[in-house]
Amino acid sequence: MRRKMTERSHVKVLIVGSGPAGYTAAVYASRAMLEPMLIQGMQPGGQLTITTEVENWPGETEIQGPELMVKMEEHARAMGAEIVTDLVTELDLQKRPFTATCDSGRVVTADAVILATGAQARWLGLPSEEKFKGFGVSACATCDGFFYRNREVLVIGGGNTAVEEALFLTKFASKVTLVHRRDSLRAEKILQDRLFKNPKVEVIWDHELTEVHGAEDPMGVNAATLTSTKDGSTREVAADGVFVAIGHAPSSELVADQLELHNGGYVKVEPGTTRTSIPGVFAAGDLTDHVYRQAVTSAGMGCMAALDAEHFLAAQGEVEVAPENLVAEIS
Ligand code: NAP
Repeated sequence: MRRKMTERSHVKVLIVGSGPAGYTAAVYASRAMLEPMLIQGMQPGGQLTITTEVENWPGETEIQGPELMVKMEEHARAMGAEIVTDLVTELDLQKRPFTATCDSGRVVTADAVILATGAQARWLGLPSEEKFKGFGVSACATCDGFFYRNREVLVIGGGNTAVEEALFLTKFASKVTLVHRRDSLRAEKILQDRLFKNPKVEVIWDHELTEVHGAEDPMGVNAATLTSTKDGSTREVAADGVFVAIGHAPSSELVADQLELHNGGYVKVEPGTTRTSIPGVFAAGDLTDHVYRQAVTSAGMGCMAALDAEHFLAAQGEVEVAPENLVAEIS
């Protein structure tokens, strides 16, 4: 009797992570008849599930991030990928087949692994930030913005995330103050334009957040100290909430002591490929990309990882490469 897909304990290709890189790898690996299993992780759909409008996904002038990720998951399932809601807690890459152990106790071995665990929000590392996390300090405006109706909030950072979060927060807050450590933003110009035109937004340039102040009972933020990056002077500003949006760090803990990393924790791949320092292990998306970090580039890398995995397995004599996937440059 044929085993049901959900009972499989060995797969040809295991994909870890469920952002654009993971789901695209699942689509391509499925179409290559590799019957991949994708383990979604803690946040199925990844970072796009905590954003709002996405305006740079080709073919969609505007789509909500969560909707885009649901569509990607449906696409991967429709192609035949097995999508598992679980969290890989241990990954043994020391010998093939590789072994993944999950939070539920599930153990899966795999001939090839595609890592697509993405990135997570960075924090400033202030004790007061830690103290008020969840009580006025947040890294997710779409998750927590609703609680700041008619209140005043600060957003820290000058990249796309900070500007998008600030704009999103104007839907609720009475005032949004963006605090940036330099005198120019690195966010896309179109987002900057929208920010500067919004009457609810003030920008404080050349300042860093150095302390969050608040009450103990009930716990909540009421002010923040900002320090000038020009002359070190400090000022206190009133704030009911603080949103930290200072970039992301790769989620590489699972493989940090097994794979070569670089640039502060990103998984290193051979240039122009998704091959990591261990043959048979591939990395795609924000886990490995410290330059572009876009949904569309992640998806592109997911495609590359599936093709790289297919060629790796073929070279081991374990599968045949589909004719349409015979890419000359891939050895
Ligand atoms: P980011 O582009 O790396 O920007 C991080 C911002 O935080 C920078 O302005 C940086 O200042 C500031 N910062 C970093 N460390 C800081 C610290 N310790 N104290 C104060 N400020 C600090 O990160 P991101 O905005 O999260 O974006 C990550 C990637 O995702 C980017 O490639 C971005 O393009 C992409 N993304 C794209 C979209 C979109 O296309 N719509 C939306 C969101 C994110 P400096 O400028 O001085 O370095």
